[in-house]
Amino acid sequence: MDKSAILRQYFGHSSFRGGQEELIDAILAGRDVLGIMPTGGGKSICYQVPALMLPGLSLVISPLISLMKDQVAALEAAGIPAAFVNSSMTSGEFQVVCAGIRAGKYRLLYVAPERLDNEGFLSLIRSQQVPLVAVDEAHCVSQWGQDFRPSYLRVAGFVDSLPSRPVVAAFTATATEGVREDITQGLALRDPLQMVTGFDRPNLHFSVRSPKTKEKLPLLLSLLEERRDKSGIVYCATRAKVEQVWEALCQSGFSAARYHAGLPAEERRQNQEDFQYDRKPVMVATNAFGMGIDKSNVGYVIHYNMPKDLESYYQEAGRAGRDGEPADCILLFAPGDIYTAKFLIGQGGQEGEEEDPERLERQQRDLDRLDVMTGYCKTRSCLRGYILGYFGQSYQQRCENCSNCCIPRREEDITVPAQMILSCLLRVQRKLGYYVGGNLIQQVLRGSRNQRVTSLGLDKLSTYGLMKDKDRRLIQDYIDCLKEKGYLYLEPAYETLRPGPQADQVLFHGEKVIMEVQIIDDPPMKEARPAREERRRHPAREGGGMAAPAVPEENGLLAALREKRTQLAQAAQVPAYLVFSNATLADMAAKSPSTIEEFMEVSGVGQVKAARYGTEFLRVISDYRDEERRRRHGK
Ligand code: ADP
Ligand code: MG
Repeated sequence: MDKSAILRQYFGHSSFRGGQEELIDAILAGRDVLGIMPTGGGKSICYQVPALMLPGLSLVISPLISLMKDQVAALEAAGIPAAFVNSSMTSGEFQVVCAGIRAGKYRLLYVAPERLDNEGFLSLIRSQQVPLVAVDEAHCVSQWGQDFRPSYLRVAGFVDSLPSRPVVAAFTATATEGVREDITQGLALRDPLQMVTGFDRPNLHFSVRSPKTKEKLPLLLSLLEERRDKSGIVYCATRAKVEQVWEALCQSGFSAARYHAGLPAEERRQNQEDFQYDRKPVMVATNAFGMGIDKSNVGYVIHYNMPKDLESYYQEAGRAGRDGEPADCILLFAPGDIYTAKFLIGQGGQEGEEEDPERLERQQRDLDRLDVMTGYCKTRSCLRGYILGYFGQSYQQRCENCSNCCIPRREEDITVPAQMILSCLLRVQRKLGYYVGGNLIQQVLRGSRNQRVTSLGLDKLSTYGLMKDKDRRLIQDYIDCLKEKGYLYLEPAYETLRPGPQADQVLFHGEKVIMEVQIIDDPPMKEARPAREERRRHPAREGGGMAAPAVPEENGLLAALREKRTQLAQAAQVPAYLVFSNATLADMAAKSPSTIEEFMEVSGVGQVKAARYGTEFLRVISDYRDEERRRRHGK
């Protein structure tokens, strides 16, 4: 069978996505590959299809136990014999798998890297024909990355120790050059075909909200309220925050699970499963809840705090909408998040290690990455463009599917406040003989009685209290705008604010300063409803630009198909999306097949699933049709 037939028959997809075909061809031709695709981009297919075409047993190195379990379950559901070995299994279970390997039962075997030390297991593997070793989440080999796992460093030695060297195929969603080099070296890839596919995820709607501290939780609650019918993840920066938010959600009647490294392993497993199986639709978690999440029907990912870098953010946010349905990625930003992140970065090493140059270098990289992340929260340009630009991809100026593109704006002439700020800066400098930070400037402008202000005599300046009536955040917005336009800049060594070369133009030559202001800026909670209205008026927000109807009519057939899916999933005790994804059900409702041949035309329906579920779903469809007919005739 050729690769397209396999894609069709086992996975039910009619065509390959960008990059998949090239990677598969290279693997089949015996060349190592390094595939870089965004989360949800379809990396698994790239090694699963070759594994079905090459003779022998292909290995998949995968970092997380939960990830393996799900992937193997999904493969088995598609009729592909697969198994996994990791440290969570009993020796009895392990023996069963070993016997299966000996009998040549499996095409794919998922292996935790820790297992590569087990001699008995290794000699069993060496007795098998191994054409392919796929390394999933390959960035774990990079010591600079966020998810470094020392056991990944053993993979290269393991590959070397096999009687004949298999093709090594590495996959990751981390696109940075440094990580790419680390992977190539760390896994000893041989002249790999590097394939970086489009990082855009058009079905994701990105937004950043900046509520005041006390409005943050109410905002979260109202965002979740609007999404009651969906499943989603709320990421928090710390364990304590997870606990706090989780409790608040439970008290407000949400069915929520929690996850962080401080919980006992058993509870973590249970909670993850509750989420996975849609028993609890909301998961509140730290970034410890991560890589293993293959749940495809995640409708939103909300970050309650800003993560520490954009790679992490895109990976976490990317867990939304894997099924291709419109999904929301919302980041709730507060300036305090920057301090939390800096604190976490500073904690990265041991006491007394200060002089370690490697550690300092790492810290500097972390701080640089934090800056990029902060820039995302503050930018007024297209959020998608910001992300794609960072990952080195071209992008359009406006995506029309992020909060910056969709929130209506107006231009405001801020020349007068700009003059106040710039002149305050100069006067303070003239008085003290040096420049100061933005905070102090704000305090002077707002007429603060802060001790530093008075002891330096800054309350005697003519600019003191000029902006008494202005909100701090607004002044900060002015300052950010002046920085963006180059009228101001931050002197990095001293963190002082200085006038840029063009400042004179504004102060003395009548140059105007225009700032773009969002017309809706996080309305108070009671008024949060209009956001929904606004969605209707801006269908692009929901639909991923050009996608189908923005707000799907409640479709009776779709509801019936969903119900059938729930029923089948419960009977088989598997998560609903393992039966069929939301996207597949939507396509099924649209195509409304009446024969098994037509049923197989539905996207995501392969041979095994068609055989297993076809009759039942076809019956739901024909029952629905009959009832429709009856209703029409009854009238
Ligand atoms: P990744 O590992 O890159 O995050 P996955 O391999 O889990 O992504 O795939 C994400 C989703 O994309 C899955 O639901 C999968 O069924 C779907 N998918 C992958 N390849 C295709 C394809 N060629 N056509 C349609 N859907 C696909
Ligand atoms: Mg994956």
